[in-house]
Amino acid sequence: MILETFPVGPLQCNCTLLGDEKAGEAIVIDPGDEVSRIYRRVENLGLKLKQILVTHAHIDHVGGALKLKRLTGAPILLNENDLPLLKMMEEQAAWVGVPAPEVTAPDVSLADGMLVGLDRYPARVLHTPGHTQGSVCLHFAPLNIVFAGDTLFAGSIGRTDLPGGNPRQILESIQSRLMALPDETRVLPGHGPATTIGAERNSNPFLNLR
Ligand SMILES: [Zn+2]
Repeated sequence: MILETFPVGPLQCNCTLLGDEKAGEAIVIDPGDEVSRIYRRVENLGLKLKQILVTHAHIDHVGGALKLKRLTGAPILLNENDLPLLKMMEEQAAWVGVPAPEVTAPDVSLADGMLVGLDRYPARVLHTPGHTQGSVCLHFAPLNIVFAGDTLFAGSIGRTDLPGGNPRQILESIQSRLMALPDETRVLPGHGPATTIGAERNSNPFLNLR
């Protein structure tokens, strides 16, 4: 198995390449930027890109998806509740102060409960609205890993002050979906260092308000 996570773009979104050498296949999660670098890595490994998975439609996570699709032919998967945010790409680019990337509607909506990923390393889609209405987390049970997008971070949670954000809803999503996972589950957030469900359950200040 190949699992490589590297921050891309000015907002340093964690982009992940997950590959199965035996099957010759790979997926990419959150190709926000630096698409040539991501593409070169997939090519060097000799893998065929099967899916482009996007945890939510913020520019730093989705910005390179169309470029990567054009290079590889892989479909883009993103929850349909983030379509309004995709349509706001010019505004999102202005927030960050970068040129707006070309974007496109997803080929498939990442619906709650759907199985995506690789045959030997499948992931269950957890719809976790709150950071955005279409935010999802991807739980790779066989790998004991959850990709948390901008919903849960080490010691923090996603911001809810942007369009589609809802502070009550993000806490509800984290408590009902992510905290339902085993303590030993590794959490790979959309930004910053990895953590575990157990560590966040015990010490994340946003989840322990009394
Ligand atoms: Zn975000």
